[in-house]
Amino acid sequence: MQVPLLDLKAQFATIRDEVLEQVTEVLDTQRCIGGPKVEELEKQIAAYCGCKYAVGSSSGTDAILETLMSLNIGPGDEVVTTPFTFFATAGCIARTGAKIVFVDIDPATYNIDPALIEGAITDNTRAIMPVHLFGQMADMDSIMAIAGSHSLAVIEDACQSISSTYKGKKAGSIGTAGCFSFFPSKNLGGIGDGGMTVTNDEKLYEKLKVMRSHGQTGVYEHDFVGGNFRLDPIQAAALLVKLPHLDDWSGRRRKNAAYYDKKFAGTPVQTPYISDDNVSIYNQYVIRVPRRDEVLAHLRASDIGCAVYYPTGLHLQECFASLGYKEGDFPNTEKASSEVMALPVYPELTDEMKDFVVETILTFLS
Ligand SMILES: *Cc1c(COP(=O)(O)O)cnc(C)c1O
Repeated sequence: MQVPLLDLKAQFATIRDEVLEQVTEVLDTQRCIGGPKVEELEKQIAAYCGCKYAVGSSSGTDAILETLMSLNIGPGDEVVTTPFTFFATAGCIARTGAKIVFVDIDPATYNIDPALIEGAITDNTRAIMPVHLFGQMADMDSIMAIAGSHSLAVIEDACQSISSTYKGKKAGSIGTAGCFSFFPSKNLGGIGDGGMTVTNDEKLYEKLKVMRSHGQTGVYEHDFVGGNFRLDPIQAAALLVKLPHLDDWSGRRRKNAAYYDKKFAGTPVQTPYISDDNVSIYNQYVIRVPRRDEVLAHLRASDIGCAVYYPTGLHLQECFASLGYKEGDFPNTEKASSEVMALPVYPELTDEMKDFVVETILTFLS
């Protein structure tokens, strides 16, 4: 049996005709930049997240970048974030010219440890960027309290967590702004790159809309330097078909996760910890296992897809060497990097496939 880490073809087969119809509409009207599909998706995502505003962007990375730029974060400023995340979180901070300040994660949730944030704040700190990793939101009450007492912006990197909740509130809706990615492998994936920022701040919303078109405030008039951060209407067309399925797909991911949780109970496999405040959408199902690299190799040899998110903390990346971090600075991140691995959890996975994954791991470990 083959079990891929993700099977985009299985999902596409269920919505193929609708996607082709929506995409054809874009092609026939030749509204190839902006237009009604982008506006409709923005409206629907804002409503879905319980936010007033949404601004589509060319990727999750660009959503984060243009949000930082729109908040005037740049040289001389500091942004506090986690080293246990996808590169773009920190990469965007660096591209604004601001300084990245890493703090370690909570080893149970893999999200930024709020207890460590206060100690990282200086007079130059302007924002905190929590990442809702693997589909579970960070401890937002604690983060918002710290941000409030220091007048800091909070930018939620919700690229892995659209539709997950914390105390009933949707990812992206609690901070100053929330950023989503529609990279095809994310739980709401487009048919190429795409992203979005949601916010309740009207001034930020207005600025984002100008920022994504080169800061153009009038015809060839530019009050500030922006970029081309626009969402492709073909992506919006496909996402309009997918969004109504999102809750169903997230529910099926949760069922798959619960199935694994039960089968791995009482074994050496450590299953994901989801706090009582959270509903996870399991963008990834991440376990910890003894002899992780051997287990990975064995699964791959057995035609089971698996991956490590993330094998190296960002504080140890060559491109951030000038920040002066070294091995040992973030022990929870470094330990997680060497122990975690993700298993297939996509909505279309069958019980037979899950059983095969579980048996292959447990047989190897015993
Ligand atoms: C995927 C991802 C991004 C970047 O999104 P892209 O659409 O690939 O640019 C940023 N942060 C996190 C945590 C992600 O998982």
